[in-house]
Amino acid sequence: MLIVMKTDHKSADVEAVSQRVKKLGYVPHLIPGEQALAIGITGNANAIDPSQFSDISGIKETIRVTKPYKLASRDFKKTDTVIPVGSTSIGGSDFTLIAGPCAVESEDQLLRIARAVKLAGATILRGGAYKPRTSPYSFQGLGVEGLQMLSRARQETGLPFITEAVDSESLEHVAEYADIIQIGARNMQNFSLLKQAGKLRKPVLIKRGPSSTIEELLLAAEYILAGGNSQLILCERGIKSFDPHTRNMLDISAVISIKLGSHLPVIVDPSHGSGRREMIVPLARAAAAVGADGVMIDVHDIPEEALCDGAQAIHPDVFRRLVGTLGAVVQAIS
Ligand code: PEP
Ligand code: MN
Repeated sequence: MLIVMKTDHKSADVEAVSQRVKKLGYVPHLIPGEQALAIGITGNANAIDPSQFSDISGIKETIRVTKPYKLASRDFKKTDTVIPVGSTSIGGSDFTLIAGPCAVESEDQLLRIARAVKLAGATILRGGAYKPRTSPYSFQGLGVEGLQMLSRARQETGLPFITEAVDSESLEHVAEYADIIQIGARNMQNFSLLKQAGKLRKPVLIKRGPSSTIEELLLAAEYILAGGNSQLILCERGIKSFDPHTRNMLDISAVISIKLGSHLPVIVDPSHGSGRREMIVPLARAAAAVGADGVMIDVHDIPEEALCDGAQAIHPDVFRRLVGTLGAVVQAIS
């Protein structure tokens, strides 16, 4: 349930509601909104009778939340969530451009690409230091050394960076260095990792699992929000399909469904979402056209030498031309 407070409520009213919720054995979550303060209630197995709060003043209305995910739902928060990242932000009216190599391979490689994507208009740098690879014989990433290279690239270009944590140990390191912590598709339902990320107070981007429904994604998000970390971004990166013409099938309609059901920002990853370089530009435009909050794109200047996912990386020049056309798409639908 969601309790919406009147605009002229007193702080004692909020305290009284919180105490009553706790007395009932549930958890209150204060949600400041543009119009009014709301208090979300979680921890209840069944519907709560609103009359349990009728003696408390300052309450405007109570709203039943029927979705299994609560804090992630639009019932809980009507307005779009905006996540500040460095001097930029994700969500709201901005269209975010995240770009960089799939994996950090060397300082030279990263700096070359970071400079190029910055020049092209990217606002956030991507690059994996811990790589979840299908084969144990594939390049696994440079670990902490890679995080230090990303930090140097940030220092030089001014771009904040996103990088993936694959387990509890790497999460600690990633949280120390990164501006946004990525939880990859394979870990979307790693519930202990989600709980650990929920304890942090740093932006987290969670990618949809290749075989996960949108409701499962939103419930994964709920783990992080319920832990008290409200700086959360969702990412559509394609799902398993019967047709091998693409590596994954980018579910562009997921953006619309997520936005209808949730206030959280949605980023689209057309690189992992297709696995095919030639599809990235049109899919990125499609993402902008359906109202995504941004795209995350693999960019490599020598893709044929990439240690990871070269086939789905576009050249910095192609990225620059894409950036030049995306603004018109964003403007057309705003
Ligand atoms: C990545 O972004 O580098 C990545 C591994 O993505 P995903 O988890 O979507 O496969
Ligand atoms: Mn990749």
